[in-house]
Amino acid sequence: MRWSQVFIPTLREVPAEAEAPSHQLLLRSGYVRQVAAGVYAYLFLAQRSFLKITRIIREEMNRIGAQEFYLPALNPAELWKESGRYDLFGETMFKFRDRNQHDMCLGVTHEEEMTNIARGEIRSYKQLPQLWYQIQEKFRDEPRPKSGLLRLRQFIMKDSYSFDLDDAGLDKSYQKHYDAYCRIFDRCGLKYVIADAYSGAMGGTVSHEFMVPTDSGEDHVAICECGYAANLEKATSGVAPVEELPGDAASEPFPTPGQKTIEDLVKFTGEPASRMIKTLVYIVESKPVVILLRGDHALSETKLASVLQSTTFRPATATEAFTVHHAQLGSLGPVGIKGVRVVADRALEGRKNMITGANQDDTHLRNVTPGRDFEAEYFDLRVVQSGDLCPKCGKTLRVSVAVELGHVFKLGRRYSEAMHATVLDPNGKEVPMTMGSYGIGVERILTAAVEQNHDADGMFLPRAIAPFEVILTAANMDDDAVRTNAETLYQKLQDMGVDVLFDDRQERPGVKFKDADLIGVPYRVTLGKKKIAQGLGEIYDRSTRQVHDVNLDGLAVALKERFMD
Ligand SMILES: [Zn+2]
Repeated sequence: MRWSQVFIPTLREVPAEAEAPSHQLLLRSGYVRQVAAGVYAYLFLAQRSFLKITRIIREEMNRIGAQEFYLPALNPAELWKESGRYDLFGETMFKFRDRNQHDMCLGVTHEEEMTNIARGEIRSYKQLPQLWYQIQEKFRDEPRPKSGLLRLRQFIMKDSYSFDLDDAGLDKSYQKHYDAYCRIFDRCGLKYVIADAYSGAMGGTVSHEFMVPTDSGEDHVAICECGYAANLEKATSGVAPVEELPGDAASEPFPTPGQKTIEDLVKFTGEPASRMIKTLVYIVESKPVVILLRGDHALSETKLASVLQSTTFRPATATEAFTVHHAQLGSLGPVGIKGVRVVADRALEGRKNMITGANQDDTHLRNVTPGRDFEAEYFDLRVVQSGDLCPKCGKTLRVSVAVELGHVFKLGRRYSEAMHATVLDPNGKEVPMTMGSYGIGVERILTAAVEQNHDADGMFLPRAIAPFEVILTAANMDDDAVRTNAETLYQKLQDMGVDVLFDDRQERPGVKFKDADLIGVPYRVTLGKKKIAQGLGEIYDRSTRQVHDVNLDGLAVALKERFMD
């Protein structure tokens, strides 16, 4: 393609509305334009990149024997009501009525539609396993769409679904996807981690997320150098030991006028928050539960839900807490309370001489020792933080912000039971099919690649997913030698199968170099008057910014052999 004939609307200024580097750069380099909040038009360069990404995805999905479908985004509400997810997704789902007053919606994912096809057609275990996938639009009415292509309301997903007779079959289908995802993200040139994940609204038990650590992400992942990685919703950790206060004196109250928060107490007592017990009261299905954490730890409501086996809970009001503790918020503690369930984070197990509320206004207790001064049930309840210890190897964990590229779920029989998708097993018995579901965000691959590969001047995408492999920059098209040599080289590169963008514009060299640096093409070949006189051309590696002078005659071959094989 010739730059003079294509539409690449680059911008010199950083768009004011964009914060994330990927958002800024995709706008500046003319890849995308916003149509509405969370809705973008993909222009020429973006679409070229997406076609390369989806080609890689298709090749790897086909390689594991998955069959490509294409289902409608427009769905009848009944399907989603059957699975129970019509209400579960709430306002996140686009819902409306058609002209005949039928409730309709736009697909958020496609478990329901796929299960609906399977249940109508598959009768016997002999027809299993089935792996079905599609690359298609999804819709989510996000409350706060932002960060360009990182949180969209309309987006492209590769989603696939496996149907097996039993858990052993699912394990195989799951592993095939897991391996295919590794190959896809490797081929796309991304640096990623595979994290244990929480299944959430999808249902099921086992799931993994493929995450790219970057500051613009919205997920948090705990990472260890030993290879352990887990979404913060799921991550567990050991706690680095805390130096205890000496002695074994009985607990005793001391006045703390106006000291309500852990922060207040740290200042007031001069003791670190790790020597304090934080007391929370939650109302769980209308009953109070007292939750204890170390002063510097935070409660994970995801973990609390799994401990309580309920998602119906909320923090108690001051009045509700008063009925348990007979004291105002700020002076609550576990000592002496009766008739209420007390759950404590494991980091409090075995500690001694801690500080906590005395259940008396403006008063706290010191020398409080769990097990001696109060009883509790111990669970993993806290959010892992940087500096905690890896549950696998004991080294220090790092918590990083990350972008989720893909997610694989063992769904089990959550959908097949709700929607009666059954087959006859070898004994002639009717059993629900065992399912898995597997997603990849196509835009996320491009945005994560930009986040990982950019500098102040622009981006340098991995070659496999860049819109072009090479920009051929003719520094001055008015010069006969430059123009003739550039035209010849352009032809030669195309003949060799190199995906090349020929910058043949009548622009100053400075403008061309700036644009070339910006738009994410990994290599630039420059032909200028001086070097051509010496029989040379330049190969410029955008990621390292190294310039290599190469003989003009052998340039195309050198480029291919040295940089692209
Ligand atoms: Zn580790």
